[in-house]
Amino acid sequence: MSPKTFDVIVTGAGSVGLPTAVFLAEAGLSTLVIDQFAGPGQGSNKAAIGGIRATHSAPAKIRLCLESLRIFSNWERCHGDNIEWFQGGYVFVAYREQEERSLKQLLQVQQGYGLNIRWLDRDELITLVPGIATEGLRGGTYSPEDGSASPMMSSAAFYRRAVECGVQFRFGERVTAVIKRHGGVVGVRTDKGGYATETVINSAGAWARPLAQSAGLDTPVVPDSHEAGITEPVARFLTPLLVDIRPTEGARNYYFYQHKPGGVVFCITPDPAIVGTDRRETSSYLPMIANRMVGLMPKLANIKVRRTWRGLYPMTPDGAPVLGWSKKVEGYVHAEGMCGQGYMLGPGVGAVLSRLVRGVESPEDREILHELRPDREFGGEEALK
Ligand SMILES: Cc1cc2nc3c(=O)[nH]c(=O)nc-3n(C[C@H](O)[C@H](O)[C@H](O)COP(=O)(O)OP(=O)(O)OC[C@H]3O[C@@H](n4cnc5c(N)ncnc54)[C@H](O)[C@@H]3O)c2cc1C
Repeated sequence: MSPKTFDVIVTGAGSVGLPTAVFLAEAGLSTLVIDQFAGPGQGSNKAAIGGIRATHSAPAKIRLCLESLRIFSNWERCHGDNIEWFQGGYVFVAYREQEERSLKQLLQVQQGYGLNIRWLDRDELITLVPGIATEGLRGGTYSPEDGSASPMMSSAAFYRRAVECGVQFRFGERVTAVIKRHGGVVGVRTDKGGYATETVINSAGAWARPLAQSAGLDTPVVPDSHEAGITEPVARFLTPLLVDIRPTEGARNYYFYQHKPGGVVFCITPDPAIVGTDRRETSSYLPMIANRMVGLMPKLANIKVRRTWRGLYPMTPDGAPVLGWSKKVEGYVHAEGMCGQGYMLGPGVGAVLSRLVRGVESPEDREILHELRPDREFGGEEALK
């Protein structure tokens, strides 16, 4: 019996694969999503803390995340699912001259792209963030249109919508290879069988590289691990997501916010990076971040931590995703290397990919795809990646 044929096969029901499948199916394409885990969003998606911002410095990421912000912020109104969207904004704090200088330099770039972000002086910041440590505080950037949502609730919502639009899912099934004939995709092989398609999207996150290699491609995606945690829920006391970019021993920066149900969710960027796929929590993470968070906001000493977890970033050398048609294998679409921002990029990436696959991309999409093209030099590194 010949394998069932789909217009598009998406590998990975994660931050990127789920919204991508929604937009493909909404446009009428028969779509199959295959994931090795038992349900939607069980890879890095559920490890994300839910921060969503358009305030990057690379134009492609700004544009993708602006589209994501529109999708996340309108989701409940359009589709009825509560995804815990909360528009609290982002604040990057400055306590030293060097952070003030680099944040203000970045601010000019971001304002140049039309983003709603401005500098708050010390007093304005203290008013916006009551309880923030005041000693040495110089001010910070504030982008009020950024926000947060629940990665678990949004993956459930994207999944529900995808099923409603006719997307088929195979969970607990691993794609072992992309099958090619005459230089073009003809299907995928899995540990349970095979499926035919002329278009395959690799949105396999931290596990994307072996799949790309099965097609004879080598996308430079290397997983590294990051830890996060959540406290008990309490009455709202914090509106924006706070980012402190002062490096310390073992960490480049850390950030936290109070999510809609009231818990404080927090995360650190380890330095040096912890390369690999180990997802077991460590005993060093919580003491390190707790100290820093209490230093920034002393009243956090009174809140109890509920749990911590560790997940993977699919990192690229320049901190930006790899997106678009392969120039070497016809029908292969890269949606790899989302780094630490795949949750916020996911819906924007999905919308662009659905236009790309249908050949109806806009001039702006083409600029995004050019910037994130698979054959670029991975030389530079984005500020605050
Ligand atoms: C602690 C932490 C905090 C984070 N916080 C944020 C945040 O606040 N905001 C943000 O935007 N991002 C955040 N991130 C990053 C974000 O989680 C990732 O960038 C994002 O989830 C990657 O999306 P993805 O779709 O590429 O991968 P995933 O969501 O991991 O999806 C990939 C899927 O592919 C499946 N898969 C892989 N290989 C195969 C195969 N061969 N066959 C079948 N299935 C396969 C996996 O099972 C997985 O479900 C955070 C990450 C961590 C670890």
